[in-house]
Amino acid sequence: MVDKLKKIWMNGKLVDWDNAQVHVLSHALHYGTSVFEGVRSYELADGGRGVFRLKEHTKRLFESARILLMTIPYTEDQINDAILETLKANDVKGAYIRPIAFIGEGAMGLYAVNNPVTVSISCWVWGAYLGEEGVRNGIRGKVSSYARMHVNTHMTKSKAGGNYINSILAKREVSLAGYEEAIMLDTDGYVSECSGENIYVVKDGVIKTPPLTAVLNGITRNSVIRIARDEGLTLVEGRFTRDEMYVADEVFMSGTAAELTPIREIDDRPVGTGKPGPVTKLLQERYRQAVTGALPKYADWVTRF
Ligand code: PMP
Repeated sequence: MVDKLKKIWMNGKLVDWDNAQVHVLSHALHYGTSVFEGVRSYELADGGRGVFRLKEHTKRLFESARILLMTIPYTEDQINDAILETLKANDVKGAYIRPIAFIGEGAMGLYAVNNPVTVSISCWVWGAYLGEEGVRNGIRGKVSSYARMHVNTHMTKSKAGGNYINSILAKREVSLAGYEEAIMLDTDGYVSECSGENIYVVKDGVIKTPPLTAVLNGITRNSVIRIARDEGLTLVEGRFTRDEMYVADEVFMSGTAAELTPIREIDDRPVGTGKPGPVTKLLQERYRQAVTGALPKYADWVTRF
């Protein structure tokens, strides 16, 4: 349950939380014609506050819209400013921020190119997406029977609302079976990503993550790649199979909401020793330092507000 804060930015203005409403005939409600982002702000190590990789998130929002032929009636700079304004208006340090642009009311047919595009930015306080216990000790994952979208059905590089039906089917399936996160295979049968996170295996000191072909271009993924290489670790982008996870030393996932979360069991097989391994733990620690502005080499990833 999201606890209410004070203000939500909607179409250029801050409105009271309860007044941020839309009509039931909003096109996006019927057909999933929205694009959104998940961004986090943090209380920094020096007591300040900052948004992690703000510009990259806003850029991806605009790319998602471009893929859907949707025009966001603001510039990227205006959205960046609006995100900071929303955080300040709600007086929060550590928050999850949800910018969304969607096709609003008007025509109800599928084409509906003249309906206005509504843009809103909300934020709320959200702890570890898969729980503190999951971050510390790892979660139980299961391969879903639902394949990740084929590259020529939905567009996997767009963080579009409608795309999340695929993730939700998988998440519900494995949650009802008693697991915490769904691991999804692509339509060729290779591991692609989790319902809302990118995935990595570690074997004999080499970290492997699926190439971007059929997965979301995760901003945390991009950060993990940079951090791993800066730490002198070998990280390759390459396809891997379900059974490579069964025999991996470590498996973990990354996302803005989940941050870095170890997977301690997959399809009822313990991963490695069944406990988070040293590579996962090192990357978790460096990531935590990066998001809180504690590492000068990643200072440009943090926008202070
Ligand atoms: N894959 C999917 C399907 C996601 O929803 C997310 C969350 N945005 C990710 C990967 C991770 O992306 P990011 O690190 O940018 O949050």
